[in-house]
Formats: sequence, structure tokens, C-alpha cells
Amino acid sequence: MFLRELNASLDHIKGVGTELRSAFTRLGVTSVSGFLCYYPRDWEDRSRIVPITEFQHATVCTQVRVIAHDWFGFGAMRTLKVHVEDASGQGVLVCFKRPFLQNQLLVGKQYWLWGTFSYKYGELQSSTFEIEPVQGEAGKNFGCLIPVYRLSAKLRAGTLRRCMKQALDQYAKPLEDEVPAYLIERRGLFPKSQAIRTIHFPTSLEELERAKQTLVYEELFYLEIVVVKRAIERRQTSGRQSPDAPISSLQRRLLERLPFSLTQGQLVALADINRDMDGPYPMARLIQGDVGSGKTLIAFLAALRVAEMGGQAALMAPTELLARQHAENAARLLEPLGLRPAFLTGNIKSSGRAQLLKNLALGQIDFVIGTHALFSRDVYYRNLRLVVIDEQHRFGVLQRQAIVEKGEQPDLLMMSATPIPRTLALTVFGDMDVSIIRDMPPGRKPVITHLALQSNETNVYDFVRKQLAAGRQAYFVYPLIEADENKSLKAAESMATRLSEEIFPEYDMSLIHSKLSEEEKRITMENFRKGVIRVLVATSVVEVGVDVPNATCMVIEHAERFGLSALHQLRGRVGRGSEQSYCFLVYADDENNRLSDNARERLKVMKNNTDGFIIAEEDLRLRGPGQIAGIEQSGNIGLSIADLVRDINILEHARADAFAMLEADPELVQSEHQCVAQVLKRAPPFANITL
Ligand code: ADP
Ligand code: MG
Repeated sequence: MFLRELNASLDHIKGVGTELRSAFTRLGVTSVSGFLCYYPRDWEDRSRIVPITEFQHATVCTQVRVIAHDWFGFGAMRTLKVHVEDASGQGVLVCFKRPFLQNQLLVGKQYWLWGTFSYKYGELQSSTFEIEPVQGEAGKNFGCLIPVYRLSAKLRAGTLRRCMKQALDQYAKPLEDEVPAYLIERRGLFPKSQAIRTIHFPTSLEELERAKQTLVYEELFYLEIVVVKRAIERRQTSGRQSPDAPISSLQRRLLERLPFSLTQGQLVALADINRDMDGPYPMARLIQGDVGSGKTLIAFLAALRVAEMGGQAALMAPTELLARQHAENAARLLEPLGLRPAFLTGNIKSSGRAQLLKNLALGQIDFVIGTHALFSRDVYYRNLRLVVIDEQHRFGVLQRQAIVEKGEQPDLLMMSATPIPRTLALTVFGDMDVSIIRDMPPGRKPVITHLALQSNETNVYDFVRKQLAAGRQAYFVYPLIEADENKSLKAAESMATRLSEEIFPEYDMSLIHSKLSEEEKRITMENFRKGVIRVLVATSVVEVGVDVPNATCMVIEHAERFGLSALHQLRGRVGRGSEQSYCFLVYADDENNRLSDNARERLKVMKNNTDGFIIAEEDLRLRGPGQIAGIEQSGNIGLSIADLVRDINILEHARADAFAMLEADPELVQSEHQCVAQVLKRAPPFANITL
């Protein structure tokens, strides 16, 4: 029998009645299998002796002899003190509200003791302790590790432990393995039955570790079976498709009209996409390329191919600002080729939205661009064949699912300037193919980055003034819109006033931030792009994607407040034309704002690196793995014991094993083989991973 088939009700466990059953139900446990999978949240290590004198380093766990009783306090407050000693020294057990211990802890006898000690009133005292008589070798709750469970109000730790022991005795022995035996052996795992027993009652830390590894591996193995099955299905078919899907005629016409030719990386990405699109299975491809590597154009070329085949394409951008910019470029580049692009705003009230939705449903729009509003409930597509998701790798599997459901298995193209962390590449994106654009369009000069202390800001402003005089444009970015309460940070609003009145009175300037209406933002961006506005004061709304090649200066004030990926994205707003560009990271380091070591490191990384892949790695290193963007989403996967970041090594093993197993036996992918079939039959949440 497999563990998850133990559907018996909890009262089949000896000693569990109605009351306990409902206590367990409150913990979310309703069946025997659920109970056995109610893993401890921690374990107390009582397998090793910690003598009394070691109390500062760990909880004391030792054999003691009772040497005397004495009492303090009066009446109801009268409290027993039991003096004990072990080989290392003496201590006192203060038995608050436990006068009955007088008759249980007898002078001269030996006991096992577990307790936390501290110095009080000149003696070494403990008031939280467990104690039991020494009988034979090990005590009932000593000489082993003790599981610590999440409890509810009416459930005592001892009761839960007792029930768990009983359940294991009744059910654990005949449990069968689901992971194939050769993998259990290769990875040094426990058989299931032993793993489940040990996770609750390990006899040593080493044994516990192996039980954990077993259960983590098992969980990740199932997950990878699902992901890998999906990947193999697509790969199996890729052999059938034509090796060179030619550039289509509309694509060729766009390329001919461009004033430049594609980079090598762009060409390869385009070929990958064309091949995928001609293949019999839906594309699932991730394009990775640093900021400015020209991903948008690739998306447009993909949309052209779809339109040529009579389908519709949708491009989703992370912000309305960026969506609008994409839409304007699409209109400029694609309309002359006969394509019908449209911009769908999230603003429900905007005039024309109803007409637009109608045209979309009728198939009179070929290429629609917007934010996630593209996939709201009221949006219908006549024939959605391609979905492009720009710069949103935080986008979870579930959202991807919702989007793809708007069409009939449309192709999916994701574009990201941020390298996907390995753990997500193996799971959430584990079924996707990847194209990497490593080169930049020719003629780009790397942005020169300077660090400047806030008190030296005048030098920065002087430099920018010269650039403005030479006809260039500049961004000034601040972490806040309005000044914070104690006014210790410069904010966009007040600085916009200062910059325009005192510092650059001779140049036109505008302010842009998230609180402005979309219309105000649109006008501002348009004026900046046209060069009517020479200085744009902003918050991080300009972080992603904005493309104004004539802007050569990026001044980020309070740069210490921004994360590395934001800084890299912001800096990516300049260096997009043929002129030399500059980025100034102005940081504060005074009594109001002390520069932290971490912030100092971030600034250094920015000064010394321009390669986004290196910056992303440094970002992970400085933030620590738990903070990786997108990991929250892995919550969607519904893991119970594995942790995608902590268990990355096991994840890689599980993936390799799942791949080898399914590849060695292609029939397995389709067949009803036990392991695969059972994994796939599992109820959600695992079902979600199959995009
Ligand atoms: P990102 O990859 O950051 O999304 P964009 O698509 O915004 O980059 O492209 C940045 C700029 O580079 C745009 O102005 C685009 O027109 C231009 N560009 C794209 N491809 C090339 C190329 N092969 N040669 C020259 N310029 C290019
Ligand atoms: Mg982009």
C-alpha cells in the first residue's frame, strides 16, 4: 500500500476518539495518511548529553541525582525547589505550581533531566524542564530526538506524540515505495516506510537528515516528473519539424525597412521562435537578453508571423507606460506592413475600449498590447495564437495558465532582462526552452558609471548641464515621490521644483511618478521622447523598458536605497544611442543616512560591472537565496517539505533522475506506468505546474 492511499479515518488509530479526531481536524489532518505526513516543525535533540555546566550553550540534557528538597514562599505561593547534581555540577529545579513533584523526585534517586538553566539569586535555576526516572538504558523521551509539532490549544505535545507512535506502529510497516528502488539506492535514501518513521522519531541527527532528504527528494522527484514529461513531449516533436523555418515575407519586409541589421543573438532567437511556431506543439520559450539587447523587435517579428498565418498576438508589459511605448513602436513599425496593432488600456472607462474589445473578438485587430488587463475576464480573442510576456518573470505558473486559456494552446514567449534563478529555471520554467541574446547592437558604448557622495552633488549637476548644453537629455531618479516625515530623503516632487527653479532653470523639465494619471504620464513621456522636455524627474516608474536614445545621463539620487536589479534597469535607460552615456549614483552617508555595508557593496558592483548576468549573480549573493524574486510563486506548487532554494541540489538530482527515467523509456511519457501515472493523477496543486 502507498502512503497516500491510507485514507482510513483517524479513529482507526488506537486511542483516538471523537475528541482527538476533531482536535486533529482543526490542524487540517483528516486521514491516517495526512496524519503520518504531519511532519514535526522541529526536533529536540535529546540524543546527546549536555551537562548542567554547559547550560549556556544548549538545553541541558543529563542524568541527575536529587540531593535535597526545600521550599520558599507561603500559602498558595509556596514553591518546591529540588536540588540536583550531575557529574559536572549542581542546579536547582524550581517547581512552580508543581508541588506534587515532591513525591516524584525522591532524594538520592537518578532521573533524566531536560531543561533550560540560568543564573538567578546566586544559583543555577531551571523552571522549564522535563524529568523522568532512569530505568534501564534510555528513558522514554531521552536518548533520542523528540519531535516538536505545531499544536492547537486543546492538544498536548505528549498526546500527539503518543498518537503518532501508535499510528506508525499500525500503518508504517507495510508502506510501499513509489520512487523506483534503483533511485532509492543511487541517492542513498531510506525506503518510504523507514523515512516516515524516522522523520517523526529519529534516533540521531544523521538519521533525521537522511529521512528529510528522502522525503524532500520524493516530493521534488514527483514535481520534476510532471515538468520533465511536459518538456519531453515538446522535445520529442521538435525532431519532426523542419530544421530551418524560413523568415516569413512580412518578417523580411520589416527587416528590410530597419536602419540596422539584427545582431547574431537576435538572429538565433528569431530562428528558434520561427522553428517553434512552425512546430506542431505550442511554443514555450524564454528569451533572455540584457537591457537594450533588442528583445522588443524579436517580439514584433514573432507577431508578424502570427498575423501572416491569420492569428492574433498579444503582448503584455509590466506597466502601462511601457505597454504604451511598445504600442507606439508597433504602430510605427508594423502598421506600414498592413498589420492592425492596438493598445488596450486597463482604464475601463476610457472611450473606445468597448469598440476595441469588439474588434478584438471579431479578429479585426492582429496585435494587441497592454498590461495584464489583456487577460481580464471581459476580453475575448477570435484566434489568439501568440502571447508575449515582457519583463515579468515573477509571473507565476497560475497566471501563465490563465493567459494561455484565452486562446487554444497559443504559443508563449517570455522576455526577460533578468536571468532566471536556477531554482526557477528547473521548476516553474522547467518546461520552457531558452534563447539567450548575449550581444548588444553594435556601436553601443558601455555606460560610464560614477559614484558621488551627496555633498558633492554640485559636480554632478555641472556635468549634466554640459550634456544638456550639447543637446542631450537626462533622467533624475528619486526613491520617493514626496518627502518622508523627517525630510531626511530627497524626494521627486521637491527636487523637481529645485532642479527646475535653481539648478537647470534654462531647460524644460517634467515630473513623472506612479500617482499621475495615465494620460499625464503619456503626455510627459511623449514630450520627453520628442525632446521637448530635456530633463525628466522620476521615481522608479522609468525603471523598466523605457527607450529614449537621446538621453545620455542617468542621475540616481539616494542610490543606496535601490536594489541592484532596479539600479541595473534604471541605468539601462541610457546608453541606447550612439553617444557616450553616463550614470551617476549619488549616495548619502551622513548622520541621518548611514551607508550600510550591503549598500556600499551594491554601489561598487554597479560601478565595476555593466554585464546584467554578473549583476544578477551579485544580486543573489547579496540578498541571500531566500529573497529571490519569484520564489513566492513557488508556493503555488504546494510543496510540503521541500524548499526550492534550500534544496536546490536535491532538486537537480531529482530532475536528472526524472529525465533519465522518462527518456530511457519514452513509452512512460504516454503510458499508465505506475509512477508517472500516479504522479499525474495526484490532485492539484501539482496539476498546476503543467502549463
Ligand atoms: P530590450 O531588450 O531592453 O527590451 P529594446 O527592445 O528596448 O531592448 O531595444 C533597445 C533599442 O535598441 C531600441 O531602440 C531598438 O530599436 C534598438 N535595437 C534593437 N535591435 C537593434 C539592432 N540589431 N541594431 C541596432 N539597434 C537595435
Ligand atoms: Mg524590453
